[in-house]
Amino acid sequence: MERKVRVRFAPSPTGPLHMGGVRTALYNYLFAKKNGGDFILRIEDTDSHRFVPGAEDYIMESLAWCGIAIDEGVREGGPHAPYRQSERREIYLQYALQLIDSGHAYYAFDTPEELAAIRSAAEAEGKTFAYDFRVREKLATSLALSPEEVRRRIDAGEQWVVRFRMPENEEVHMHDLIRGDVTVNTSTLDDKVLYKSADALPTYHLANIVDDHLMEISHVIRGEEWLPSLPLHYLLYRALGWSDTQPQFAHLPLLLKPTGGGKLSKRDGDKMGFPVFPLRWVSPEGETARGYREDGYFPEAFVNMLALLGWNPGTEQEIFSMDELIEAFSLERVSKSGARFNPEKTRWFNAQYLHAKTDEEVAGLLLPLLRKKGVEADLAKTTRIVALLKERATFVSDLWDLSSFLFIAPQEYDAKGTAKFWKGENPARIAALREVLAGIGDFTKENAERIVHDWIVAREYPMGQVMNSFRLTLVGASSGPSIFDICEIIGKEETLRRIDTALEKLGR
Ligand code: GLU
Repeated sequence: MERKVRVRFAPSPTGPLHMGGVRTALYNYLFAKKNGGDFILRIEDTDSHRFVPGAEDYIMESLAWCGIAIDEGVREGGPHAPYRQSERREIYLQYALQLIDSGHAYYAFDTPEELAAIRSAAEAEGKTFAYDFRVREKLATSLALSPEEVRRRIDAGEQWVVRFRMPENEEVHMHDLIRGDVTVNTSTLDDKVLYKSADALPTYHLANIVDDHLMEISHVIRGEEWLPSLPLHYLLYRALGWSDTQPQFAHLPLLLKPTGGGKLSKRDGDKMGFPVFPLRWVSPEGETARGYREDGYFPEAFVNMLALLGWNPGTEQEIFSMDELIEAFSLERVSKSGARFNPEKTRWFNAQYLHAKTDEEVAGLLLPLLRKKGVEADLAKTTRIVALLKERATFVSDLWDLSSFLFIAPQEYDAKGTAKFWKGENPARIAALREVLAGIGDFTKENAERIVHDWIVAREYPMGQVMNSFRLTLVGASSGPSIFDICEIIGKEETLRRIDTALEKLGR
């Protein structure tokens, strides 16, 4: 029988979720939905030293913002609840003990101070210390001490850890769905800690394997940084007798800096002016980091951009809805090599999504911003303005910069434009134009344009000079949309008023 696809996103709540983490969640989600499977959110919080308050909520809010729906998780519950590892703590010890009983793991009693001393002694000799088969029988472990001594130490309340007994000189053959076959010799690997008595908690490796097994995970899709742990994970499945139902693995390529070299970091974002987090983050210490949401990105654009960062559909298509991504996604088309982040392209995606919305939809998004600026505008007028300017905007907020003069008369006039156009006979021509405009009954764009045009031609005035000085009175600048669009939107009265103000302020 085909196994039901069940994947999990398993972040540790150690801070805000980096966009690389969001991409991991997204690929898991796409893979699950493509294959009619379940997407599980498991919080891996067994490292109490690295726990950051607020990080878990941040993770969930980020996924919700992106439209990544969770089938089973901390809030959603599910057949394998709880989904927070700190609440599953009593599950893990039995597996650590099982591994000791079967000879796959052992107790180690070295204190952190002793280990630090051994490490620096090795360093002094120019070596790096590894806790492995070369030393485990010479240190304070249950492989070296008598069973009675081990019992005595445990009963006396000495602290211990359980370490995996990495086999010596064995080739571990692994398969990765993205990278293909990988082989590693175990002699290059150390004996990882699986469990610590000090806080009665498993480490990542043990908790991760036990939970993936108990939660019936079919595929593990995660970042490349976990590839070095894969041999240990294979051997843990084998040691626990779970090889038959072990999940398949896929390790995703890194997200690289826009310049290519190295992993994309918050520092790159700060330097180059883009967020690396989905949402704004305020740390418990009060440090803040910007987020895509607060920077004005649509979640659909952010998700679309992320999906293509390491995966390609094999076609020229670039714009994908979530449903289209689900339809098109496959792990076979995820690349092995790092994916370079492109902030410019990310803005481009946002512009595409903005332009694809109806004028009325965008107007609805712009209205609250107008209100914040103290402008009360109606939907109809705002929609008309959006229609005129949408194509020039990347973010909704750009529309304010592009259109504020349509709501508020210019308070000042661009010096360059004034010097260039408000000279010679132009002010007098504008004064005369004012009377022409005042006489127009049907003040629509087409009608006003025709009348003004004919008037300028009949007088043999220089068209560019007159129109540019006219624009200056309306906009206060030499740029903006077509003059008669502006006239129609602000209306006859306001057009005349703006000319009067300009004549007054700039002189006739
Ligand atoms: N808790 C690990 C992390 O923070 C999960 C790694 C995995 O998916 O196995 O990335």
